[in-house]
Amino acid sequence: MKKKDIDFLFQKLEEMYPNADTELKYWNDFQLLLAVIMSAQTTDKQVNKVTKDLFKVVFEPKDVLQMGLDKFTKAISSINYYKTKAKNIYATCEILEKNPEILSSNLETLTTLPWVGIKTAKVVSNVLFWARVIAVDTHVHRVSNRLWLVNTKMPEKTSELLEKIVADKYKDIAHHWLILFWRYHCTARNPQCKTCPFNSFCKYYNQTK
Ligand code: SF4
Repeated sequence: MKKKDIDFLFQKLEEMYPNADTELKYWNDFQLLLAVIMSAQTTDKQVNKVTKDLFKVVFEPKDVLQMGLDKFTKAISSINYYKTKAKNIYATCEILEKNPEILSSNLETLTTLPWVGIKTAKVVSNVLFWARVIAVDTHVHRVSNRLWLVNTKMPEKTSELLEKIVADKYKDIAHHWLILFWRYHCTARNPQCKTCPFNSFCKYYNQTK
């Protein structure tokens, strides 16, 4: 995509979503980490349904440990892959109970936690500390390729390229803008192409109209 189109894209996204932030609900850093881990392959809406009651009693790692793995697994049983997620969250809590500083450390250290890959680590660092990184899930990956902002096969490559082409001033917010744009405008089944401000340079639109 041409630089002028990239500039236009992010200027417009800023206008469209001036208060962009994660839609996951949480009260502290630890809860955000749990919510992000739970959100893999699950909608934020579904995670929020589960955490609405859970986060009234779970504020720190020891709360999960005291609850016990069985009870915790049951508490999150309405989300996808809940057994694996519960097991890894429990293991994460055992580590954080002894090493709480990991939660506020760098990306590399965060990824030493069970089931915390680079995408989760980037979301946590970005949301909590406004780190200038661009986390790429399947949605950000798909919308970036639809627009032809990048032309990649894997989310990791998309993240690497976006961090190169997105202006520094937008890096701490670009992830949220692209997620919201995918969720509410360029939706998987019914993208609103006719009213889209980007249809003049969108690859998907120009190939399918
Ligand atoms: S033109 Fe359509 S496919 Fe392209 S970015 Fe806009 S809504 Fe998405």
